[in-house]
Amino acid sequence: MIHFVGAGPGAEDLITVRGKKMLEEADVIIYAGSLVNPKLLDYAKEDCRIYNSARMTLEEVAEVMIRSEEEGLMTVRLHTGDASIYGAVREQMDILEEKGIAYDSCPGVSSFCGAAASLNLEYTLPGVSQSVVITRAEGRTAVPEKESVRAFAAHGATMVLFLSAGLLETLTEQLLEGGYASDTPAAVVYKATWPEEKVLLCTVNTLYETARAHRITKTALIIIGNVLTHSHYERSRLYHPGFTTEYRKGTGETDENSSH
Ligand code: SAH
Repeated sequence: MIHFVGAGPGAEDLITVRGKKMLEEADVIIYAGSLVNPKLLDYAKEDCRIYNSARMTLEEVAEVMIRSEEEGLMTVRLHTGDASIYGAVREQMDILEEKGIAYDSCPGVSSFCGAAASLNLEYTLPGVSQSVVITRAEGRTAVPEKESVRAFAAHGATMVLFLSAGLLETLTEQLLEGGYASDTPAAVVYKATWPEEKVLLCTVNTLYETARAHRITKTALIIIGNVLTHSHYERSRLYHPGFTTEYRKGTGETDENSSH
């Protein structure tokens, strides 16, 4: 059986308990060496066969999986963050399905959650933004026109951009053309949860120069939105004394002047 496992954003103790157990039991581990912390491999058995997929093609990865399966071995395919976000897992799963090989998935902490933790950030502040757009600037991989940064920027919602740290000049233009004000708060989070993490706060206007000043061109997330400065939000209804919930009876009085 093949287990697709999310490695988490970087720190080796940010893998799930289940994911760690799978690493400990694996006979074969294929890990995404460009972004997975190699310290996670310390959880592997001594005789575990370990492959770094950064140097392999899809076909080569598939070949290792198929061979392991023929030998009756347990394989972990270790992906950075959570495999459902820009993980290129579907193409592997389709090959396994074609070959009749069983597989399952174990979630991981995506880097956008790691970066929020580094910033002590709530992406969805009431009265500021209730949505998070997860997207990327168009690079070698095309982005459908309806999902362009410009189109999403028009919503003014919180935005998290993956795979875009090397494209900040054009990205900034698109963010501004789409409708974010130039002084909208922004953050560049480099290697969130790794020892070498850098958290840089700036504005949409200063994204490029901020990243350039710190020589950041990859392994970073770009976060845009007024939630970053957390001013003028409203307190939650869930914990409001006046509000009745499934678990708690409220007074019925709601204080409308309870914004921060
Ligand atoms: N599946 C991964 C994303 C893989 S795409 C996840 O859930 O996080 C690779 C991109 O993810 C990088 O270009 C970068 O934008 C982002 N990324 C991955 N790990 C990161 C980290 N620790 N800090 C900041 N960005 C990270």
